[in-house]
Amino acid sequence: LRVVFTPIHRRGEGISGTIAMLHDITEQEQLEDARREFVANVSHELRTPLTTMKSYLEALDDGAIEDPALAHRFVGVMRNETERMIRLVNDLLHLSRLDSRKALISRVPTHVPDMLEEVADRFSFQLDQKEISIEIEVASGIQEVMLDRDQIDQVLDNLVSNAIKYTPEEGSIAIRARKTEKEWLEIVVQDNGIGIPRKDLARIFDRFYRVDKARSRNMGGTGLGLSIAREIVKAHGGTISLDSELNQGTRVTFALPVHRMEGEAV
Ligand code: ADP
Repeated sequence: LRVVFTPIHRRGEGISGTIAMLHDITEQEQLEDARREFVANVSHELRTPLTTMKSYLEALDDGAIEDPALAHRFVGVMRNETERMIRLVNDLLHLSRLDSRKALISRVPTHVPDMLEEVADRFSFQLDQKEISIEIEVASGIQEVMLDRDQIDQVLDNLVSNAIKYTPEEGSIAIRARKTEKEWLEIVVQDNGIGIPRKDLARIFDRFYRVDKARSRNMGGTGLGLSIAREIVKAHGGTISLDSELNQGTRVTFALPVHRMEGEAV
């Protein structure tokens, strides 16, 4: 805490009083620390794929280019790294839009059962590949809700893609929707995958926080999926939380205040 005293001058009267201002510098310092850590993380996340690409390019230049099979493999690795960098930069741009509140929420009438079916459809290839089953359960009475469809699709995609990434073959995923007591729309994405150790739960929504960096990278993760999901839900005025049990599975629950559609009876 920093205390700043400012004298009050009145014309002709000299100093007539003092204003004491208390600045919470710890909060400012924390913000500054978080910003520094974020920049260091971004630099590191970009340097890793760039270093990999540099060494593959050098290997090609040193002769691997003459061996078509080898060259083909190296180009494949470099493509993967490039795609991950593009994903990372897109995620960063998305986060910075959410931070600057430029990402206005534009709510459109959305049929919740259709929205959930469509998420499952988008992932049908990956689900089939790992033979993971998916179950969708929508409580009766939930039909059309006003929400920013693109943004909520992004939240669902991030959660379902995590559920698939961190669930072994032949596992199962469930997506459930219901209304809470406050009449909010609550959506749960649950898996029976590898789970998250208790010690990591407190930081799991932090930018770039991962339980296992190498595993996340191998899976093509950027470490930003959950933080983006949280920012979008916050922008909707909602809440998001995650429960998990190591080797049992993970459940992410988010709830959104429901805005009534124009003309709808209250
Ligand atoms: P990533 O791109 O690494 O998946 P996220 O922000 O989406 O980044 O998730 C952060 C970390 O949380 C992941 O690296 C992983 O360790 C953990 N995690 C997220 N979802 C799950 C899940 N369904 N099961 C197990 N671990 C998860």
